[in-house]
Amino acid sequence: MENCLFCKIIAGDIPSAKVYEDENTFAFRDIAPQAPTHVLVVPKKHVSSVAACDELDDQTLAACLKACKKVSELEGLTNGFRVVSNCGEDGCQSVPHLHFHVLGGRKLTDSMA
Ligand code: AMP
Repeated sequence: MENCLFCKIIAGDIPSAKVYEDENTFAFRDIAPQAPTHVLVVPKKHVSSVAACDELDDQTLAACLKACKKVSELEGLTNGFRVVSNCGEDGCQSVPHLHFHVLGGRKLTDSMA
């Protein structure tokens, strides 16, 4: 999608630190990491957020979660990790392309909100 930051990253028009890629997903390091591992997993097809996930085919949606698991393995997060997807204004989403934060590498805080 034109003018979407993450679409430009997927296309290689904006550089990123790629961690993983498959047919349906792309994963790269967050530019402002909040944990030792902070990777963003995105579907290659543009959809704005979880609120629009019914615009994605089930295979791609499932591929996103499987990519999160793959990232956890690649990053050696054997003691656990967190997957977060912010959605919309109240969810503090800042980039309107569906993405899953994979966070780990230390004991995370109890707070979810
Ligand atoms: P959210 O606030 O949930 O929409 O998450 C968007 C994330 O994208 C934030 O954690 C940002 O640090 C991250 N981000 C923004 N621009 C870039 C970029 N060029 N490369 C990697 N991560 C980015």
